[in-house]
Amino acid sequence: MRDGTRYPDILVVDLLGGLGDLVMVLPVIHALARRNPGAAVRVLTHAPGDVLVESDPAVTEVVRAEKGDERAAVAAELDRRRPALVVSTTRHSGIPEEIESRGVRSVTNLWRNPPPDEQVSRRYLRILAAEGLVDDVDVPPSIHLTPAERVRGAATLADHTDPGRPVVLVPGAGMAVKHWPHWAALARGLAGRGTSPLVVTGDPAPGAWAEELARPLPPTGLRDLAALFAAVGDRGGTVVGPDTGPVRMAAAVGARTVGLFGPTAAARYGLGPAGVDLQGLPGCPHRRPTAITEQVCWWEARCPLAADGPACMADLSPDSVLRASHAG
Ligand code: SF4
Repeated sequence: MRDGTRYPDILVVDLLGGLGDLVMVLPVIHALARRNPGAAVRVLTHAPGDVLVESDPAVTEVVRAEKGDERAAVAAELDRRRPALVVSTTRHSGIPEEIESRGVRSVTNLWRNPPPDEQVSRRYLRILAAEGLVDDVDVPPSIHLTPAERVRGAATLADHTDPGRPVVLVPGAGMAVKHWPHWAALARGLAGRGTSPLVVTGDPAPGAWAEELARPLPPTGLRDLAALFAAVGDRGGTVVGPDTGPVRMAAAVGARTVGLFGPTAAARYGLGPAGVDLQGLPGCPHRRPTAITEQVCWWEARCPLAADGPACMADLSPDSVLRASHAG
């Protein structure tokens, strides 16, 4: 039932630790702001993702928490300005108990009974809709950029690509279990079709193929990278990469994406209808779509199905990714 209360001061807590986690909570922030016009909406999160909500008209203030000190950061924020409503994605470190102890309206478990084939963002919204707190459940993640940032992103893209529809590769996996072993073959395939892709370099650095077959992008800040991805979208281009924060960011600024899903289930973590989500080894019996951190392979990339790396990532062939990259 619809909760008729207007909440004048709302605190959204996302301290899960990943850039992609923050992108997935953006629809919650936007739906709460729409339901409560004029409300002060504060977001408590970590760096470096905090900059992604900096210019967002729905966000009144962004507060940064240090890693390892999350519960204290939540307590300090609740003390600094008592919110009327708190919504939290985060359940570690006693954070739900800290919030609930203040006796304000709160939703502290957005992970209850997740269906294995429901997108995380949509699940968050459905729970809040069931609590009567939001109206929309089909809001895609969206990152706000300023006009000046968009102009700069378009100029950077023009400086590093030929005219036409660009292809941007984002090989950095963040975790070894998401590493895709076929980047060089994809770059060769793109070169064979006359496309010299742009490569977002990261840690670890891509191999020699990035210098030989592609154009590495100089290091850039997160917002400038988001603006560059927005320009890729404006030019009808494609961003290719595994299930990581930067690729999720590309989808959230309107770029077409080709998502390489291995250990995570595309049905739950997919990037959305504007792109193509490819799933390696869809029948892997070790995949746990609603409890990925408990998967046998998750933390150390030890795959029971292959000695030389995640079998699901290797299963995504360069040809299938090449076809998807050029299909837009
Ligand atoms: S067990 Fe292997 S194939 Fe299965 S999800 Fe994990 S890394 Fe992928």
